[in-house]
Amino acid sequence: MSEYINVAGLIGDSIVDGPGLRFTVFVQGCPHHCPGCHNPESWAFEGGTPMTPEDIFMRMKKNPLLTGVTFSGGEPFCQAAALTPLAKMVRENGWELAIYSGYTFEQLLSDPVKTALLRYADTLIDSLFVLAQRDLTLKYKGSRNQRVIDVQSSLKAGTAVLNTTERWN
Ligand code: SF4
Repeated sequence: MSEYINVAGLIGDSIVDGPGLRFTVFVQGCPHHCPGCHNPESWAFEGGTPMTPEDIFMRMKKNPLLTGVTFSGGEPFCQAAALTPLAKMVRENGWELAIYSGYTFEQLLSDPVKTALLRYADTLIDSLFVLAQRDLTLKYKGSRNQRVIDVQSSLKAGTAVLNTTERWN
């Protein structure tokens, strides 16, 4: 039996959490508390709805038009172990997986449980939201300090490789 994911919300047809038509999983709980956060109701680790990866994946499968999946929050990497089986299902189904995190790529790599989830991602949007660097013209990130990272190239290179494609920027 898979570990439960504590879910803040699900959106089955998002066009704002990455390119294409995406299924977004918002997890409950975030330790970062960035001033100006777009989703402060997701900070508390209590509350939320416990769901299995299988249940969420079945909901994704109902939409034949999906091109990608996004994990957002909250802080997805605080539930890395629970999200990893879902990430595996997403990738095996051929969908692109993007994950938002307040942690940096380098911080994630220092933790084996977080790294295990990261290995399934195509794209990581990393770093804390910084209100002073907020820029409403940015496509899929909130502040200029955040990075859109090509995860698979970065893991191969052992250092963060930015995804500079127009599709994501
Ligand atoms: S990491 Fe994201 S969800 Fe968490 S406080 Fe910062 S902006 Fe909000």
